[in-house]
Amino acid sequence: MAQFFPETLIQEIMDKNDIVDVVSSYVSMKRSGTTLKGLCPFHKEKTPSFTVSSDKQLYYCFGCSNGGTVINFIMQAENLDFTETVKYLAERANVDLSRFEGDGGAETTHLRSIIYKINSESAKFFYNCLFGEPGQAAREYLIGRELSKGIINKFGIGYAPEGNLLLAHLRQQGFDDNSIIQSGVVVKNDEGNVYDRFRNRVIFPIIDRRKNIIGFGGRVLGDGIPKYLNSPETAAFNKSYNLFGLNFAKSTKDDYLILVEGYTDVISLHQNKITSAVATLGTALTPEQARLIKRIKGEVVIAYDSDEAGQKATKRAIELLAGEDVVVRVLTMGDCKDPDDYIKKHGKGAFENQLINAKVQIEYKISKIQEKYNLSNIDEKVKYINELAAEFAKIKSPVEREVYISKISDETGVSADSILSEVKRSLAVTERKTKMEAFKATASVGVIKNINPKKANVIRAQKQLLNLISIDKNIYKMTINNLSDDDFEEGTIRDLFNELKIIYESGALPEVKLIVAQASNAAEIAEILHDNQNITDKQLAAKELIGLIAKEARLKQMFKAVKDDEIPSGQKLLELDRYLRKEVGNDK
Ligand SMILES: [Zn+2]
Repeated sequence: MAQFFPETLIQEIMDKNDIVDVVSSYVSMKRSGTTLKGLCPFHKEKTPSFTVSSDKQLYYCFGCSNGGTVINFIMQAENLDFTETVKYLAERANVDLSRFEGDGGAETTHLRSIIYKINSESAKFFYNCLFGEPGQAAREYLIGRELSKGIINKFGIGYAPEGNLLLAHLRQQGFDDNSIIQSGVVVKNDEGNVYDRFRNRVIFPIIDRRKNIIGFGGRVLGDGIPKYLNSPETAAFNKSYNLFGLNFAKSTKDDYLILVEGYTDVISLHQNKITSAVATLGTALTPEQARLIKRIKGEVVIAYDSDEAGQKATKRAIELLAGEDVVVRVLTMGDCKDPDDYIKKHGKGAFENQLINAKVQIEYKISKIQEKYNLSNIDEKVKYINELAAEFAKIKSPVEREVYISKISDETGVSADSILSEVKRSLAVTERKTKMEAFKATASVGVIKNINPKKANVIRAQKQLLNLISIDKNIYKMTINNLSDDDFEEGTIRDLFNELKIIYESGALPEVKLIVAQASNAAEIAEILHDNQNITDKQLAAKELIGLIAKEARLKQMFKAVKDDEIPSGQKLLELDRYLRKEVGNDK
């Protein structure tokens, strides 16, 4: 749900969430002056190119060009949209958002925040019970499942004892009965008696993407019914819109999520350091969850149990996910019952191989592509074959590829050889792209920028000047006395200059983090503004930069004039050029 937040609120949230504090819980950084440096959480690297400026409250990565404010950082790191991020940071800093909610919204928000508190207190209670005297059988059960203490802590697993101990505990903590009932951890029966919902069960807290405990899943110890019991839907818990494990899985570097059947499957995969696993919350996959998956990663590997029920669920999930245009792959478990069993029998490496090689639902893709074209029209048929060829080129096994080629050949009457040569062409294109990407990844930023050194120089000068303008009003004045906005490169750079101009002309001073926060291209702006250039004499530096930019601008004008036949080319131009170089700068 998109929501409008006023600028003052955005400002308040950024002021109360110091970027260094926030980023430090994701990246370990070394400080030098006002700049901190560490390994980028958004791309794989061995030497640090991720920087945070504590005075500008911005971050920027020279390796992957990711950058922005604390808001952009959380959007990326936690995979949240803007509204979710504002809420997340507001909660983190205890900023009350209820004044921005619509009618009745404030009340729900208030109830929700109480439920979070009750859930959090309940989770602590369950955890303490697990490691106390009543939790012995539960501990034995978890040891039997080979779960380590570290994993138990990571997921906050607990134990709900017999009796009404939780209710007593929550009352003692000062929560009123009505709120406790609304949270779903207790049940009120027809006679009006209130008692604990979970008894003699191992408890799995369900945590949303903003790290709130929204509910619980409880597995019975022994043979009781039902085997699994979940919190009911509450103001804080909507089963259709959440997935177990998503709080971890959303921010892994994998391109996909692994969809497994239950909580214990997610947890045992984590035990094996496979952290992209999620599970539904005691129900079959819902369309809302399919959309959620699409938003988070866009690709899913289904690893349901190998029994009949699991296979049926797989089929249903494929249909739902494919309907949302999620790329679906299915993991074949062979002789094993579930992912845990698979890893125990064949090892973690074999499972990871399966993850990489799991089959894409190619038939589904073919039918999707087919829908777009009218195959009785020759032109469209050709487009159809070309698009299919690009898909077939992605299939790794040549045998599998051949199967699909001959299938399409039969259906369309186009010879298998023609399709194959189209596939080969597509393969060559993909290969070139991969090589190009590999080149880009290894080439340093400098190398790429230096392809056109002259242009790169002037652009760098413009960026440096903008940086200085943003922190010094006198430099701004110096700039407008010597340059016009036309002298700045069209696009981001000129727009930023104009924005700074508007701010200064209105009598205000620029607040760089607010400029970045409101930009649609936050990373680009952050790149320009974040750097604390180690310049001792900023005025002098600005003067030089203005000189360089003015000279280039005048040269450009001259070349344009010559091109437009306004002044004769040849000797005169060369003289002018020499004159300009001597007069305005010493740049070669
Ligand atoms: Zn990076």
